[in-house]
Amino acid sequence: MLIVKKFGGSSVANKERIFNVAKRCIEDYKAGHDVVVVLSAMGDTTDELIAMARDINPNAKKRELDMLLTTGEQVSVALMAMAMQALDVPAVSLNAFQVMMYSTSRHGNARFKRVDTKRIQHELDSRKIVIVTGFQGVNKYEDITTLGRGGSDTTAVALAAVLHADKCEIYTDVEGVYTADPRIVKNARKLNVITYDEMLELASLGAKVLHNRSVEMAKKYNVELVVRSSLNYSEGTVVKEASNMEKMLVTGVAADRNTARISVIGVEDKPGTAFRIFDTLAKNNINVDIILQSVGREGTKDISFTVAADDLKKALDFLEKNKERLTIQQITHNEDVAKLSVVGAGMMSNPGVAAKMFETLYNSHVNINMISTSEIRITVLVAEKDIDKAMNAVHDGFAIPE
Ligand code: ADP
Ligand code: ASP
Ligand code: MG
Repeated sequence: MLIVKKFGGSSVANKERIFNVAKRCIEDYKAGHDVVVVLSAMGDTTDELIAMARDINPNAKKRELDMLLTTGEQVSVALMAMAMQALDVPAVSLNAFQVMMYSTSRHGNARFKRVDTKRIQHELDSRKIVIVTGFQGVNKYEDITTLGRGGSDTTAVALAAVLHADKCEIYTDVEGVYTADPRIVKNARKLNVITYDEMLELASLGAKVLHNRSVEMAKKYNVELVVRSSLNYSEGTVVKEASNMEKMLVTGVAADRNTARISVIGVEDKPGTAFRIFDTLAKNNINVDIILQSVGREGTKDISFTVAADDLKKALDFLEKNKERLTIQQITHNEDVAKLSVVGAGMMSNPGVAAKMFETLYNSHVNINMISTSEIRITVLVAEKDIDKAMNAVHDGFAIPE
């Protein structure tokens, strides 16, 4: 059997944890399996490296940032190989360049394009545990890229897909995927199983337990994932295609604080206005999320939308520069907002979920700024100060069943 095992930053935060991970991998190796290990940077290394970069140059080029951030993962894989060797088990560490994990060029947010298997296969054939850096890729200019925060999960899934692994296990600091972030919602409950689609929504809406691209890729290549704790042997959560699983009305609740609202006021109420505004933003790589347009009055209308808080400044700059062309009279924004979402495949056939969510928020005195829905989710924008309270209330309001 070939097993891909990915361990997050907290699972390799210090010497003791590194040996703990080494031992868990060695158990599988000694049972006769081929083992590929994907690691994140130790503890808060990535955050610390980002802080160091900001201190030197707040406008550092993304190429150099990637060069810096990828060192974190390189430290963990080398130390892990040394730990395994200290335990008399043959192991080899490899970075994205050595494996040849080709990605798109976009620094800070690259996607895998093609991943070679030759080197890994060769090392496995000589009965080594292969330890690969998460989070990084190589672009066509042979520059090193990163996949976005939390991207090591995606490295693990990409390797599981190309190597046709029998198992892909994502080890983290909680026991699996919960109905909400267990650090914020005290009644959150661990799920035994969740579908790709539901997990993709949760991950995209702020539940950082899995990188959303990893779920996208797992679905595309049909890689079944298990999310579980690196600190105990409890069973974790299986992420897979919907089979005859019961469709839960609400599977989970997620919050995203990295959100800002922008409103463009008094734009011309005629065809093409929205197109020009959102086209300008898209061409500058700014993703727009919830969109709300007012009914036109006296030939003008207002449009509000949300962007990632990281993109706020860039978005405001572009809108300001193009104010006249886009017929904008005034631009306002608010950073103190957060998105709250409920996700569940059962929603498709049950119209009552939105009303129930709004009622729960009303009872908790939380005001809703914007609303957006899809087949299996409802998202509302609320004041950031209300988000924890709102999340607990909505979670408990649905009393997600056992
Ligand atoms: P790792 O370093 O192992 O990749 P992350 O910090 O990226 O770990 O992700 C794990 C964290 O995700 C948990 O500590 C938890 O606080 C958070 N989290 C958010 N939503 C959920 C959820 N629905 N289920 C489980 N964990 C969640
Ligand atoms: N070390 C990277 C980060 O902190 C990648 C990861 O943890 O998955 O975002
Ligand atoms: Mg993570």
